[in-house]
Amino acid sequence: AGAAPESTVPAAQPQPPTATRRRRVGLLGGTFDPIHYGHLRLAESLAAIFNFDELLFIPTYSPPHKDFDRVTSAYHRYAMTVLATLQMDIARVSMVEIFAPERPYTADTVATLRRTYGDETHLFFMMGADSFASLPKWERYQTLLDSCHLIVMTRPKYEVGDLATLAGQYGAGRVIDLRGGRASQRAVTSNLGETGMHVFLTDLFALDVSATDIRQAVSEGRSIARFVPPLVERYIHVYGLYSNGYHA
Ligand code: ATP
Repeated sequence: AGAAPESTVPAAQPQPPTATRRRRVGLLGGTFDPIHYGHLRLAESLAAIFNFDELLFIPTYSPPHKDFDRVTSAYHRYAMTVLATLQMDIARVSMVEIFAPERPYTADTVATLRRTYGDETHLFFMMGADSFASLPKWERYQTLLDSCHLIVMTRPKYEVGDLATLAGQYGAGRVIDLRGGRASQRAVTSNLGETGMHVFLTDLFALDVSATDIRQAVSEGRSIARFVPPLVERYIHVYGLYSNGYHA
C-alpha cells in the first residue's frame, strides 16, 4: 500500500475568536385547549424573524383531576401540543406549569425558566394582542417585563395600541415597533445589542381563529380541519374532547 494521497483540501486556518452569539429562546404560554394554527403560525413567524434557537410551548396549569368542564385536563392539552409541534425542529413542550404544585403566575414561570437557561440566554415571551391588553392586570407584570423580552403579535379583532401610548406606559426606550414592514432579523439584532428588556410589537400575520371557536365547532359537529393540524383533529375525535362536555 502506498502513502496516503496528499490532501488537496487546504489546511484549516486558525479562526479569530468570534463573539459567541447569545442563545435565543421563544416562549409561548397558552391554555392550548386546543392548540391551533393561530398559535403555530405565531410561533413559526416569530421564530424566523427573531432567529430562535428554541421554541418552548408552555401549556398552562390546570388541576389534572378536576375542573374538566372548565378547562380540559392538562394531560390532553399537553398531548395535543406535542402532536402539533413534533415536526418543528426547534420546538419543545414544557411541563413547567402543568406539574407546578399550584397555578403559577407567568412571572414565576419565567423566573423558573430563567434559572434553567441562565442569564446569558435571551428569553422572549410571545403573546397575542388580547393577552397584551390585559398585561397590566397580571400579577407582578413589572417583574415579568424585567426578566424577559416581550413580543406582541397582532390578532384580528384586538387592538395593540399606538406607539405613543405604549411608550408612555412601558417606557419610551423599551417599546420597539416592528409593525408595518419594519420586522427583520437585522432590526431585531440591532435592538438586542443594547441592555435591558424590550417590548417588540409585530404584525407578521393575521389568523382569525380561537380555541373557543374550535370547541364550539366540535360541539356542533362542524369540521375543524382548517384550524388545527390533522393529528390534533384526530386526537380530539379519538378522545371525544369538546363533543359532550365529558373528557375521559
Ligand atoms: P381561548 O379561545 O380558549 O381563549 P385562544 O385561542 O386565545 O384560547 P390561548 O391558549 O389562550 O388561545 O392563547 C395563547 C396565546 O396565543 C395568547 O397569548 C394568545 O393571545 C395567542 N393567540 C391565540 N390565537 C391567536 C391568533 N389567532 N393570533 C394571534 N395570537 C393568538
